[in-house]
Amino acid sequence: MKRRHFVQGTLFSAAVIGLPVYWFNRWDYLTIHHSAGASGDLDLLRRVHRRRQARDPVDEVPYHFLVGNGKGIAAGAVVPSERWRLQIWGAHVSARNRDRNFRSIGICLIGNFQNARPGAVQYDATVALCRDLMRRFNIASDRVTLHGETPGEATLCPGKNFPRDRFFEDIRQA
Ligand SMILES: [Zn+2]
Repeated sequence: MKRRHFVQGTLFSAAVIGLPVYWFNRWDYLTIHHSAGASGDLDLLRRVHRRRQARDPVDEVPYHFLVGNGKGIAAGAVVPSERWRLQIWGAHVSARNRDRNFRSIGICLIGNFQNARPGAVQYDATVALCRDLMRRFNIASDRVTLHGETPGEATLCPGKNFPRDRFFEDIRQA
């Protein structure tokens, strides 16, 4: 009996200490999106999320961060969502792609890069945010993907005008 209690107590302590450590260190990927609208802010994207992802139990934008383009959010301003504040999962890739929604930080640039290009200020802020998160959570550059290039995903997001090659060069620079 004594040994059993010891084992149970040890398992309980490990869970109490280990779970928060795991929870805050589980971020292992970054996924880059565009909002697919010329302007936007948290309120607008919340309304879009309620309409398009009505079954999501989390009433918050699917991403962890928004990066403004000067239309709704100041150009280059980084706005964390409640998902980031609470350190919970995203809903920014397909629902079946559970691991990415769970362990990938979703970054959404306001804008539609099928039509436009990200401005320099917004682009630079995105690179700086990615490099900061990669450093903080020890995320390798091959774990940073554009939404449409993420395994299991089929979408044009973040748009054909997103400067893909330059972006991957820029985030790799130490
Ligand atoms: Zn996307």
